[in-house]
Amino acid sequence: MNYTSIKDYQSLLAQGEISCVDVVSHYIREIKKYWHLNAFLEVYEKEALDRANELDTLRKSGRKTGRLHGVIVGIKDVICYKNHITSAASRMLENFNSVYNATAIEKLLQEEAIIIGRQNCDEFAMGSSNENSAFGNVLNAIDNSRVPGGSSGGSAVAVQAGLCMISLGSDTGGSVRQPADFCGVVGLKPSYGRISRYGLIAYGSSFDQIGIFANNIDDAGLVLEIISGKDVYDSTTIDDVFFSDIEAYTGTNKIGYFPVMFDHPGLDKEIASKQKEFINSLTKHGIETLPIEFDLLDYIVPAYYILTTAEASSNLSRYDGLKYGVSGFSPELEEQVKITRSKFFGKEVQRRIMLGTFVLSEGYYDAYVTHAQKVRQILLDKIKDIFQQVDAIILPVSPTTAFKIGEKNNDPIEMFLADIYTVFANLTGIPAISIPLFQHTNGMPFGIQLMASHANELTLLSLSKKLIFIQNR
Ligand code: GLN
Repeated sequence: MNYTSIKDYQSLLAQGEISCVDVVSHYIREIKKYWHLNAFLEVYEKEALDRANELDTLRKSGRKTGRLHGVIVGIKDVICYKNHITSAASRMLENFNSVYNATAIEKLLQEEAIIIGRQNCDEFAMGSSNENSAFGNVLNAIDNSRVPGGSSGGSAVAVQAGLCMISLGSDTGGSVRQPADFCGVVGLKPSYGRISRYGLIAYGSSFDQIGIFANNIDDAGLVLEIISGKDVYDSTTIDDVFFSDIEAYTGTNKIGYFPVMFDHPGLDKEIASKQKEFINSLTKHGIETLPIEFDLLDYIVPAYYILTTAEASSNLSRYDGLKYGVSGFSPELEEQVKITRSKFFGKEVQRRIMLGTFVLSEGYYDAYVTHAQKVRQILLDKIKDIFQQVDAIILPVSPTTAFKIGEKNNDPIEMFLADIYTVFANLTGIPAISIPLFQHTNGMPFGIQLMASHANELTLLSLSKKLIFIQNR
């Protein structure tokens, strides 16, 4: 199975060159062969084969096929799939069976995608290395001593290692873009409100978005077209309809960049120099680049961690052993809640709940939350201004390539600071994408990140295609 794109794959199916059953069997074999990567927590083997069989029959009968007909998709373990476990990689929800489908899942199924399994991640999507999963860490397929990134590490590795065609992840502060970068695949975080969050286990509700891992830009665009849209179950979804009409894009090709981000002392020297050289080369390919001043770099990570932990402390209060979570330890209410939450939440989740509860508490709220909200507002004003001048902003994805397992695990602050380039898009709700372009001398891939104004995913996808084309010529 030499998978290149959804379009090519579907034409092979239509010509009768291959069948969905062949393809599902292939991916199941690969998943088993690479089981040690720990990318999947569960594989729906029988179900996927049965569905493939049905789809083969349907196609051969000449009926019109769905737009994702036969596409093999893996889903991060935070997206609810009816009658399947959704555990958020936590002991707390180890046996939680979803009673409904997330809207994104519903839409995938309607268009005849085949869901092959659920993918490992950091517990409740909190982390940047996939070392916080209650079910073991995930290995980067290129170098097994390195992390895949996080929190959607399993989803990134699954696409990287050819264990599925598309993965759905979630991105609250970079969890799709950073692992995509560490694994050398495409990672798209759409605008806030583009894809319904109905059925996505909440972390920071004003930041969370479902995101897409793919092998190429067209696949990511097609999947976005299908799973996005207004949804009565999520009032924050936007009305705008997204068509992935990439070739029809007519922007001005003006890209801005913040020099301060590329000159940051934390950014790996080789990453910085390759990215700068690339940006400098863009003019001769008809892309205008514009340096933009940015003096808020030191504020974005603190603002992100104050607001997301505050939202998380509220969102995760439902896991008390009564509403959700493991119960039956004590007849005393307080005792029951205490035992459940201390025993079944991992260390990082507990740390964030405590941090969030602290910043929300009386006397501290103004000092932390109010300030962080001000930073968020200033950023929103700032981008309004920037997108009057340029179509997109180019920036790094992560300060380093995939680091070694255990390397940053004992220093939460260092791990937080590494989110410096990705949290911007979530604080402001704008769409962002990471595209693989380069290889580091340490053997690991890395790329660049593009951000566009709200609801302008088409700009992102079309410029991404141009940049990949320029780099590959
Ligand atoms: N690394 C960030 C965090 O730990 C991002 C997580 C995410 O996007 N889900 O919060």
